[in-house]
Amino acid sequence: MQELFARRQGLHRKILIVDDEFIEREMLGNMLSDLYEIVYAENGMDALEIIRSEHITLSLVVLDIHMPELDGYSLLKIMHADSELRRIPVIVLTAEEGAEVKSLQLGAADFISKPYDMPDVIRARVSRSIELAEDSVIIHETERDSLTGLFNKEFFFEYGKLLDRQNSDPPMDAIVLDINRFRIVNELYGKSYGDLVLKRLGGSIHDIVKIHGGLACRSDSNCFCVYVPHIDDLKEKLPGYLSEITESVGDSKISIRMGVYCDDGSGLDMEHRFDRAKLACRKLRNTYQTRCEFYNAEIHSRELHAERLINDMDKALEEKQFKVFYQPKYSVLGEKPVLSSAEALVRWFHPEFGMVSPGEFISLFENNGLIQKLDRYVWNETAAQIARWKKEYDITVPVSVNVSRVDVFDPMLGDILCDIAKNNGLTPDKLLLEITESAYTDDSNQIIETVNVLRNKGFRIEMDDFGSGYSSLNMLTSLPIDALKLDMKFIRNICSDSKACRLVEIMIEIARLLEVPVIAEGVETKEQMEVLKGIGCNIIQGYYFSKPLPPEEFTELIKSECKEEEYAHN
Ligand code: C2E
Ligand code: CA
Ligand code: CA
Repeated sequence: MQELFARRQGLHRKILIVDDEFIEREMLGNMLSDLYEIVYAENGMDALEIIRSEHITLSLVVLDIHMPELDGYSLLKIMHADSELRRIPVIVLTAEEGAEVKSLQLGAADFISKPYDMPDVIRARVSRSIELAEDSVIIHETERDSLTGLFNKEFFFEYGKLLDRQNSDPPMDAIVLDINRFRIVNELYGKSYGDLVLKRLGGSIHDIVKIHGGLACRSDSNCFCVYVPHIDDLKEKLPGYLSEITESVGDSKISIRMGVYCDDGSGLDMEHRFDRAKLACRKLRNTYQTRCEFYNAEIHSRELHAERLINDMDKALEEKQFKVFYQPKYSVLGEKPVLSSAEALVRWFHPEFGMVSPGEFISLFENNGLIQKLDRYVWNETAAQIARWKKEYDITVPVSVNVSRVDVFDPMLGDILCDIAKNNGLTPDKLLLEITESAYTDDSNQIIETVNVLRNKGFRIEMDDFGSGYSSLNMLTSLPIDALKLDMKFIRNICSDSKACRLVEIMIEIARLLEVPVIAEGVETKEQMEVLKGIGCNIIQGYYFSKPLPPEEFTELIKSECKEEEYAHN
């Protein structure tokens, strides 16, 4: 591209004239030498050598057909078969009829008939061939992704739609491929290794499209789209293709998920086909294996349901359909568990669907920014509730609220939380903040900055779902946090599986190293509670003590806990 740029800036382009007749070479050279830099070759072999060594700077070859050693046709064939040399346009010199057609078929850009009696025409043809070739390089480079050589997203959709308009038979299937946990690959093995993986994957997708027809692009950093003519037995064939593709990457640690929308005759446009393939692919987002999923009726109804929830969100906020529930956390350090704080968990009482749990809507709202509105609402409700308990019963219960990964990127986050605390007459330490570990690995620099700001303002941070993300031990030591909250899945088998138990012990040791308390959530049985207590867990939350409760019930709970406390003190 730089080369092209230099040449476009008015530098002379280089032309190779290949002819065994001295006179003819000179005549042509004279016609062109004031506009171009000319090099000469007197036979096909010499020409090939020059072309190979100077192909980067060569703008055009003017080629005689009849020559000793290697004739013009053979040279054309060699050039055409070579992906580097194919780029250079060739004008064929000929005196005989019929040679033109053959030359064009072999890839020549144009031809000039001997004798050379019209210099202006020759100059015009030379100039036009160079321009056309250069334009096509520019087009190639703007429409292609430079890493993989596949189309970029814009041109992919443009050409795909064109293809659909010109030819809808056979109809096209949409396939989306994504590399599982690609960010981790980049982080662990470096960006250049990540690029190599993408290149190999791109290469094998390119091969598939070459065999089956269709188009392919890299649509996002690690996401590829393939638009291929529909085949009836795609379902049977796809696993084979998928394993071929994964093998081509040559690294068994890399796994790929694939979402497919198979044409069903509904005449959907290309973009919607890919939306659906993406939805099918998204269904696999938590898998670590190579798998494929086909878009189907179930995914479709889930999509409609999701859309409904998103559409209903604003009204639900206005009508206060969201209610905050509270789940107690108990300190288990002493003889008897003592209520230490609570977690605020939102529930949606939807007029049509009844109670919807956050598992259904939080991730939906995270994809479009709605989560920030909801979180603010929950923080406000929680702060107001803490203040009410204080005012009405003189009981202070710190409550943790969940802070979504999306909130972390809001530069106003600290101010917003401060305002909420202040408006409710609370000091920031009454509103604990839970941030999921995976948010830390999304963008560790950003989050460390945010968390530092929050801590400087007096908030305390609990790292939620610890063990489910990918914090490196190294990173952990530099993280500003005030508590580790173990991911629930580690608790499940803690009584039956000694390895699971050992794992929790190790996490507790890590917390000790970081000098922060450990919270275990999802604790459902007395045995689990006792094992955790025995290995040094500080705080426990879970159904064993209580489910998340509506405010009225939680009020009763804290009132009775306080009475017991008083009773114990008397
Ligand atoms: P989380 O923050 O990890 O919350 C713990 C989840 O475990 C809650 O699910 C809670 O009800 C459930 N749980 C508590 N004890 C037990 C137990 O003993 N056994 C089992 N099996 N589960 C238990 P929930 O309320 O459905 O919330 C799910 C997730 O939704 C939460 O996971 C949190 O990430 C998110 N979430 C909830 N409320 C909010 C919110 O206001 N804002 C944001 N951003 N996220 C929220
Ligand atoms: Ca939480
Ligand atoms: Ca959690």
